[in-house]
Amino acid sequence: MPSSALLLLNRPSASAQPHRVGAPDLTQFDPHDPVLSALDLAATRGDGIFETIGVGQGAPQALEHHLRRFGESARLLELPTPDAAAWRAAITTAIAAIDPVDEASVKIVLSRGVEGDDRPTGWAFASASPDHSAARRDGISVVTLDRGYRHDVETTSPWLLAGAKTLSYAVNRAVMREAARRDADDVIFVSSDGYVLEGPTSTVVYRQGDRILTPGPRLGILDGTTQSNIFRYAAQQGLQTGIAQPSAADLTAADAVWLASSVRLAAPVNRLDRLDLAVDRELTAGMNDFLLAVRE
Ligand code: PLP
Repeated sequence: MPSSALLLLNRPSASAQPHRVGAPDLTQFDPHDPVLSALDLAATRGDGIFETIGVGQGAPQALEHHLRRFGESARLLELPTPDAAAWRAAITTAIAAIDPVDEASVKIVLSRGVEGDDRPTGWAFASASPDHSAARRDGISVVTLDRGYRHDVETTSPWLLAGAKTLSYAVNRAVMREAARRDADDVIFVSSDGYVLEGPTSTVVYRQGDRILTPGPRLGILDGTTQSNIFRYAAQQGLQTGIAQPSAADLTAADAVWLASSVRLAAPVNRLDRLDLAVDRELTAGMNDFLLAVRE
């Protein structure tokens, strides 16, 4: 069995025509084969959406939450509504097509398709995950960077698609290079008016006493599936959970800070803007054990 698998959906949305009438719902390709048209709007404009779903011991994690968010991103971009059943099948088939490993992920992509064709393109790519145990255990060093928008951009300028998981991630990659220039591993975006938003591929979670908090909603950020499961774990531990609107100074004053995401899971922040932060090793290990085992 291969360590990665690529599946193309014949009909990613029930409201659009299939690519080939009578063809199977899913076709598997070698991930190195040229499958995508150079005219696809995913390639030419970044006009599409995606999700990355963690897979623990062969089971997709937070699948329904990811599919809900996928549908919400499609709505924001006015893409044809993804057919949830077709995507569920693509995800499980992709997972079954790779070597069994402890941790893997499936990336699902829906693009507007070839310009003028009126049929979205959709694919699922499963692969084994890299080893994130050092980041989970020892933590990561993070810098805050200005995202350049006010915290209320989602309401004032919905056409900027803040809060949609679009394929236009060049900025999210550029900030990682900026982080490396500043000797850091990752980034927390701050709004132009000073509020903490999210990481380029993660949600901010922090502890203040016995409360576990996260920024949002309506800050133009993603509704994190990992953060949501961290809150479930925290509640089991008798901690309170809640939504807040912290400034960068509130984060440096917090008792602990994490960046939460589907594949790396809970990475404690050990340094924020050159200030050392305490890592709560016990709570972090508990969170990650929970996240590794979680199915919903
Ligand atoms: N925020 C952004 C911008 C992301 O890209 C991601 C995930 O890639 C997240 C937050 C975390 O979401 P999740 O925990 O569902 O992976």
